[in-house]
Amino acid sequence: MTERLRIAVQKKGRLADDSFALLKKCGLRFSVRGGGLLTRVKNLPIDLLLVRDDDIPAFVSTGASDLGIAGENILVEEQLTTEGGLDADVDRRLGFSRCSLCLASETDGAIRRPSDLAGTKIATTYPGVLRKFLKDQNINAKIVEMKGAVELAPSIHIAESICDLVSSGATLEANGLSAFETILNSEAVLIKSARKLSPAKQDIYDKLVRRIDGVTASSDSKYIMLNAPKSALADITAILPGADAPTVIPLAGQDDMVAVQAVCTENVFWETLEQLKAKGARSILVLPIEKMMA
Ligand code: ATP
Ligand code: ZN
Repeated sequence: MTERLRIAVQKKGRLADDSFALLKKCGLRFSVRGGGLLTRVKNLPIDLLLVRDDDIPAFVSTGASDLGIAGENILVEEQLTTEGGLDADVDRRLGFSRCSLCLASETDGAIRRPSDLAGTKIATTYPGVLRKFLKDQNINAKIVEMKGAVELAPSIHIAESICDLVSSGATLEANGLSAFETILNSEAVLIKSARKLSPAKQDIYDKLVRRIDGVTASSDSKYIMLNAPKSALADITAILPGADAPTVIPLAGQDDMVAVQAVCTENVFWETLEQLKAKGARSILVLPIEKMMA
């Protein structure tokens, strides 16, 4: 029987859909319907372990899973709070579920900066990261550990401030709070232990991460096509964001014009198109790239 690589993924929540989407873009065929803990990938020797995000670092560390996808915030918190530490670390960043762990207090209150926290109470679901921050900053404050709904703590006088995840800031604002310090910037990460994989699993891992890198690299990349006056070719290539040597093709019946095609590895904004047009480029097309392999 062939060995199967196991990846722990959040079953339901803010990470789940993007994690499944990434794996599908990597060509994995699976269905997450039904209440099962384990889902078989139909076309590759991979199984998905569908769990709560908080459990993912420990599953990777103990070997219950070979890989995991979770927020860096969860990984760092579990590394700091698990007795004896964890054999689980960031293998690569995945570029989605970006958020920050921030300190926040009442918008018109007295706490404006970390030093104002001395002698006060801070509510959080991240006691490990917060304790380390307070220690590094030499601030003596009390941590009130909660399991959720941290943003309500100041209004019910459980704590003067909170340490919580922020993405748009709308939840804070709705509760009359503002962030005044960022403790950790987070995004989804692929988690792996330092243990050596068996040769069979290593092969599947190599194939998977090559595809993951191809998906992440192509997500910001665009294929750009345009017609340009030969005389403006140097100016136009210089504007193309993150492009290597472009392909230049003659245009039938137009000796002074060429067609230019290039892969731009950075975002192509409207401003870029306007600059290209100002240099004489015409018929500009920007196309999404689905996959890339060097
Ligand atoms: P679970 O049931 O799996 O324990 P949860 O309720 O702890 O889920 P979610 O709210 O689904 O967690 O968030 C999962 C992860 O999504 C977070 O740990 C974080 O990395 C990321 N995330 C991205 N944006 C936000 C946000 N605005 N608020 C909270 N988490 C966010
Ligand atoms: Zn969780």
